[in-house]
Amino acid sequence: MNDFLAELKTRLENVEKNDVGKVHRREVDIDMLNAYRMINPESFWGIAFNAEMQKLMQKMWQSKPEQKMFLDEMKIKFCIQDNQDSSIARVMRADYASNILNLEGDSFVVVFTKDKLLKLKNKDEAAFVMGHELSHLLYKRDLLDGYQEYAEETACDLNSLQLMADAGMNLESALSVDDLYEQKSEEMKSRREDRADFIRQLDQYNVPTMRDFSIYKAAEFMPLEYAFTMPEAKDTEEQKVDKIFNGLTEVFEVGGRAQYSAKLKQYLEQEGSKAASRQVLLAAAKIFSEFEAVDEVRKNLGSNKYFKHPICVLGDAVLYVNNMEGQKLFPPTAVKIIKEGLEQNPYYSKGMKFLWNKALGAEENIKDGREGR
Ligand SMILES: [Zn+2]
Repeated sequence: MNDFLAELKTRLENVEKNDVGKVHRREVDIDMLNAYRMINPESFWGIAFNAEMQKLMQKMWQSKPEQKMFLDEMKIKFCIQDNQDSSIARVMRADYASNILNLEGDSFVVVFTKDKLLKLKNKDEAAFVMGHELSHLLYKRDLLDGYQEYAEETACDLNSLQLMADAGMNLESALSVDDLYEQKSEEMKSRREDRADFIRQLDQYNVPTMRDFSIYKAAEFMPLEYAFTMPEAKDTEEQKVDKIFNGLTEVFEVGGRAQYSAKLKQYLEQEGSKAASRQVLLAAAKIFSEFEAVDEVRKNLGSNKYFKHPICVLGDAVLYVNNMEGQKLFPPTAVKIIKEGLEQNPYYSKGMKFLWNKALGAEENIKDGREGR
């Protein structure tokens, strides 16, 4: 990894344009948690970085199989963002970004910040950071009564140090990593003291015990199974469209975007291109007529809610139907409503125009409502 880190640094300093960006689906002009620039996880260095970090993770957790089992269940991916960020790394849920970053199947992603990654002096510093971030998943905040942020940060530091000690790594790296930050807050200084203390008295220290795993499950920390109602074959078209609309509304309110998208694609596949194309366009028209405007949601409720907006979630299905073999139908009234809806939501349209233009078919479909190819 020493060599790898050195090589990665050289590479990242001169990273090729096509390795950085809004990742692999250009028509979907959205990003992840305001991380506007990501090193493409599917590019050579994106893959290599993740693979190295996975190896490091295996090494780190050798001494704690019970923690390891838990982390393995979560499926974790490591990525690099090329943005200004005050932290070297953040751990975040991967679910709403799954269709954008192609993290399907990964529950969590640890995003390293490129600038700070480049300043790391050795792999053990990277190991400490990784140990800290992943410990957040083990010492999940909000679960302890009287949770205090400071206590969790310290617990994560100490767990990481314990792992490093067990793996025979250089513990001083857990102190030198603070060199990344020119200005150190009181909290940072105090945490650094705790680490130094721990290193001095490695044998006597008690790393806080992890919480009971069953609590995590109860607290919906593991990927949830949502019970979405999907349309049935015996339903009328109107009922089918209503059910799609209701499912999307549920995603907006309670979550489960990736799961719903997968179920919807499966359902549309069964319906075939003719029925599927009509239903997604009718559903889109219903969203534009009846649901809170997508641009407003972004402005008032933020990007997380924006990604869960019915029209954003339906966008995946639209793309899917568009790529289906066979004839597509374009109900003229729905097409008209969608076109107006897009005009009224310029932010959304800016990124998604490409997709919708394809989905809405050629102009003549719109003019006389005749059936498409
Ligand atoms: Zn932390």
